[in-house]
This record gives sequence, structure tokens and C-alpha cells, in this order.
Amino acid sequence: MIVMTLAEIAEAVGGRLTGPADPGTRVTGPVEHDSRKAAPGGLFVAFTGENADGHDYAPQAFEAGAVAVLGSREVDGPAVVVPDVLTALGRLAREVVDRSPDLTVVGVTGSSGKTSTKDMLAQLCERLGPTVAPEGNLNNELGLPYTVCRVDADTRYLVLEMGARGIGHIAYLCDIAPVDVAVVLNVGTAHIGEFGSADAIAVAKSELAAAVPAGGTVVLNGDDARVAAMASVSRGDVVTYSTSDPDAPVHASDPESQEGRFSFTLHTPSGDAPVRLAVHGAHQMSNALAVAAVGDRLGMAPGDIAAALGEVRARSGRRMDVFTRESDGITVIDDSYNANPASMAAALAGLTEVGRGRRKVAVLGYMAELGDSETAAHEEVGRLAAEAGAELVIVVEAVAERIAAGAAACGVATEVAADQDEAIALLDELSRPGDTVLIKASRYRTWRVADYLRSTHT
Ligand code: ATP
Ligand code: MG
Repeated sequence: MIVMTLAEIAEAVGGRLTGPADPGTRVTGPVEHDSRKAAPGGLFVAFTGENADGHDYAPQAFEAGAVAVLGSREVDGPAVVVPDVLTALGRLAREVVDRSPDLTVVGVTGSSGKTSTKDMLAQLCERLGPTVAPEGNLNNELGLPYTVCRVDADTRYLVLEMGARGIGHIAYLCDIAPVDVAVVLNVGTAHIGEFGSADAIAVAKSELAAAVPAGGTVVLNGDDARVAAMASVSRGDVVTYSTSDPDAPVHASDPESQEGRFSFTLHTPSGDAPVRLAVHGAHQMSNALAVAAVGDRLGMAPGDIAAALGEVRARSGRRMDVFTRESDGITVIDDSYNANPASMAAALAGLTEVGRGRRKVAVLGYMAELGDSETAAHEEVGRLAAEAGAELVIVVEAVAERIAAGAAACGVATEVAADQDEAIALLDELSRPGDTVLIKASRYRTWRVADYLRSTHT
């Protein structure tokens, strides 16, 4: 973290120092709410939850070297006491950004692909200077400020994933970390149950474009009409990208796929360069163009952007991870991290590509948070599995049964497994050497199936 004294922290978060706190004590980081991760010089953030009270863990945090607690009541040791810890954490993060004049903040939102794109952007920015980005999925009002607090005096780029479960969420995240470069990937139907409509989701995502000041950059997906329309709410310079439209300032031409890895010619306002992506899936071509648009705005030459895109990998697991089991040559596409209708469609397109010329099996499960569209969306996934060329669809859990119904209606062989163990047993029984197997569902629901295949990798 940017080094601050307890007095400075108390002022920034509107708190008061209690206990034997020396106002001049310097906090050098890390900022942690898990006492097991507390470390020398750190600040321990104590939340009061339903089941546990973080303040009870203050002694362990002090033991590990934390110099103070940020909490809502006094503890036996130095503390900054505030009325609301989450708000205070956000204000502390904002102070970190305000004290970092040389920092470029890049924010990514969208219904699908935030983490994948964030991981690529982070690897691109690392080529330009010291970069901080979250590991995995820390994209909400709790996770984001922790990531921001990792910025230190050397950091030049901060890449953030910004998720929205409602109107105002992204605006709040942008108050914590004002973005210089905003990237909006797509507006799909993820979380539609909470929002009500895709238009409402678009309003929530547009808060990122609206937060960019004059002089900043807004990178918009020109292939998504709701995203392209966000140009009207932005004060920054708008750059659109497209996988096909030659009029978009950043676009691709001559795409070709080899076992799901795309090659294309990248066109940017500064010139063209051939790209071969290291990551799998057609959707990653779109994400890569968003990354290229950012690279261009950050002053990278097309050839350097292309070289970076040829090396950047998926860092956060379970996202189009492709591996082949040596024992029987079964190729697994582990895209089990999470699912929504758009990402199911993208993953099934990936199955077609990766499994070209081979028997294809899809192990698919429930997509959560779809509200009224649930039944139709699951049936549509079944239909898309058939269209993708799956010969066998194994559906995990009875709640996802409509996927099987949709696939069966298209003449595909289907099985419905009661749980993941049954799905594993069915897969062992029904898969054949050389198959390509896609695994995907909402969070947790197929992770064990993927882990099983990974554990039997060799
Ligand atoms: P979450 O809302 O869970 O944080 P996310 O937006 O971070 O999701 P990722 O974790 O990057 O998204 O990807 C989730 C899945 O979405 C991937 O497994 C992939 O199948 C799909 N996906 C990624 N990018 C796109 C895209 N541009 N369009 C459609 N689907 C995509
Ligand atoms: Mg994510």
C-alpha cells in the first residue's frame, strides 16, 4: 500500500484513533480482513458478519504483525474506529488512488468476460510498468478496495474488474477508483433476474462509460448495440472495436481458428499486425480486441500489442482451460467457472472448434439468476449443444433438466445426472478415447466434474 500514518488513515476514512494508537505509526500494508493473512505493517479490517465478528480476531492479526485494526468498535490494541467499515474501506482505497498521481486506472465491465479480459489487460500493462490487478474475481464493493489498497508508490497501472448487481453499483466502484480507461464488453442476460431487463443491465454498465472524465478513454464493443450506444453518455474519447466491422477503429480481419485458438489481422489506428491468440474460444477474439484498443490508447505499437496477445494466458482458472488426458486422449474444455446464456453459447462454439473432427460431449448444468427466462434459456442451451455438434449431453442436476429437453428435441442423446458424482460416473461410462468434453454451469455446479477430469489428467 501507499505508506500512510494512522492519523492520515483516520482522517481519510473519517474515523477516530482508539486504544494505544500512535498517530504517527506507519501502515505499510497489507490491508486484510482475514487474520490468517495479516502481516507485519498491515491494517486488519474487522467486519461484523452474521456468523463471525472480525474484531474477535484482532489478537491474531496483531500477533502476525498488523499495526492497527480498522473496525466499528474498540479492540485491545490500536484501532481506527468508524461507523461503517465497508464505507471506510472504500474511502481508504480512494485515498490510495488520490495519492498516486502517476497511476492509470483501467476498469472493465460487461456481462461476460470481465475476468478473462482483466487477466489479459493486466498482462499487457505489465509490459508497460508495475501493475496491480485482482487475482480471480474480486469485482464488488468489498473485493475491489482490497485490490486498490495493494497499489504502492511504484505502481503505474491498476486494472480492475467491475461487476454490477444493480443500478448505482458501478458508479460506487468508480467513486472508489476513478477510471482513466473504461472498457465495456457486452450487455447480456447475466443476473437478469435481479435487473429485470437487458436494458436495465445496460444502464448499470453504462455507469462505467459515464464515469470517465474528459481526456479519458472509453473502449466500447461496437458489435453490441447496447454497448455502442454508451458513446452518448461518455465525456471521454470513445474507441470502438469489432470482430468484423472494418469501420471500427480497432477491428479484426481474416479470422481463422486452429483447434479453437484464433489468428487474425489486428487493425488499430496506429497500424496493423498479425495476431495468434494463446487463449481459446471465439469470444476471446472479442475480448482481445478490447485489450488491443486499450494497448493502443496506452501508446503501444501494433506489433507489441500483437506480441502481448500471443502470450497472454487465462490466469483465473476454469475459463476455457483446454487440456488433453494422456491416458485416453480425451480433450477437456474446462469452462466450468460460471455460466449464463451468452457464455454458454460462446463455450459451445468453442466445443465445435476445439472438437473439430472428433466426437463431442457436453456436460452442462444449471444457469442461476435467470428469473422468468429460465426455462426458455435452458432449452435454448440444449438446442445450441445440438447445433454445436454434441453427440451426447450430460445434464448435471434435475434443475437443469430443460437443457436435456432442448437437446433431445434436436435428436441428441441425453442423460440427466442427479449430482456431480453421478455425472462423473456417466462420463466414465459413456465417454470414448479421443472425445472432446466441454464442462460448464453456474458457479460450483460442475467444478468437481472438471476437477475429477483434471486429477486423472495423466
Ligand atoms: P463473473 O460475472 O462471474 O465475474 P466474468 O464477466 O468475469 O464473469 P469470465 O469469468 O471472464 O466472465 O468468463 C465467464 C465465461 O464467460 C467464460 O467461461 C466464457 O465462456 C464466457 N465469456 C468470456 N468472454 C465472453 C464474451 N466476450 N462473450 C461471451 N461469453 C464470454
Ligand atoms: Mg469475473
